[in-house]
Amino acid sequence: MTFERDNIKALHAYTPGEQPQETGVIKLNTNENPYPPSPKVMAAISAVLPEQLRKYPPPSAMKFRQAAAKLHGVSAEQIIATNGGDELLRLAFTVFCDPQKGDEKRGGFSYPRTQGGVGVAEPSYSLYPVLADIHDSLIARVPLNEDWSIPGDWASKLNDAGCRLGLIVNPHAPSGHLESVESLEKQARAFKGVLMIDEAYVDFAGQSALGLLEEKRGLSNVIILRTLSKGYSLAGLRFGYGIGHAPLIAAMNKAKDSYNTDMLSQAAAIAALEDQEYAQGTWKKVLSERARLVGELEKRGWTVLPSASNFILVTPVAGKPPAKKIYESLKDAGILVRYFDQDRLRDKLRITVGDGAQNDRLLRHIDSIVG
Ligand SMILES: *Cc1c(COP(=O)(O)O)cnc(C)c1O
Repeated sequence: MTFERDNIKALHAYTPGEQPQETGVIKLNTNENPYPPSPKVMAAISAVLPEQLRKYPPPSAMKFRQAAAKLHGVSAEQIIATNGGDELLRLAFTVFCDPQKGDEKRGGFSYPRTQGGVGVAEPSYSLYPVLADIHDSLIARVPLNEDWSIPGDWASKLNDAGCRLGLIVNPHAPSGHLESVESLEKQARAFKGVLMIDEAYVDFAGQSALGLLEEKRGLSNVIILRTLSKGYSLAGLRFGYGIGHAPLIAAMNKAKDSYNTDMLSQAAAIAALEDQEYAQGTWKKVLSERARLVGELEKRGWTVLPSASNFILVTPVAGKPPAKKIYESLKDAGILVRYFDQDRLRDKLRITVGDGAQNDRLLRHIDSIVG
């Protein structure tokens, strides 16, 4: 006897990257920033008073919303604060997607009528289909082009499939490919639903789709996802936010938990955003390490896709040994990278750019495995 809904019973839950808690493991598998958060973040957490913890926190994190609004040149009404970017994604499904209707449940087409569901470009962040299943929403999966760019007719396929929500991650994960803002604008204009542009890795890209929110563009269906997990070295804090047109943000604020972000994280998140100089310093170091790592791997004959992110998708020399074997050998040596057992990715590894010492150890172990 089980009590859960059928779609939850059938759910293949999201598999997060391995999160070993012992120290000494080199974690290059879940795209954390290798550098510590700003000292001002730690100071802001220490400065929180007992009285602030006794009371409930500001429900919509208004001070944070104001800080983010100032940084991005929008109004606080255009910002929603969430418990990690993942909560923003979950809210987008809750607010914009319909669950499928029982008597119309059928698939079997490459672009099934999704009955108000979600459209994605594949492969991408593997949480998206899991969230669709949790919400019992149907999903249209449009394959990415060979060069990992988004097909020109992506939005029109989503329209045909009846999608109310479209998700694009840019820079793309797991390839690191960067789609131009012009291309994103075309998709946004063509799409009849809400387009969420997941900019989890934008801090390493030097280009953002924020301009699509300018009044003069007349686009009212775009929401941009940001997170403090990657660029601001705060994956443990669980803080993300959305930027979009006020009515979309208001709808999402209506549906969120009353106190979805806590007092400590609000204080820390404000300090993190306000210390741009520190964060940008870490981004610069990551980019220079990325260039070095790419060069070193290419010297060894590996193929590395151009990346606008803090990770690289690499193809080791075919079969010497296969990618999965390299992943396992590195793991035995205490170095975690990401291996995806799925189409287009089976011969590849996704490697987070670490700091200099971590990348050196990675390269040394690769040399000992590949010989
Ligand atoms: C990391 C990430 C997020 C958000 O992660 P949080 O830690 O929940 O903020 C969203 N999308 C992609 C593609 C990511 O890699």
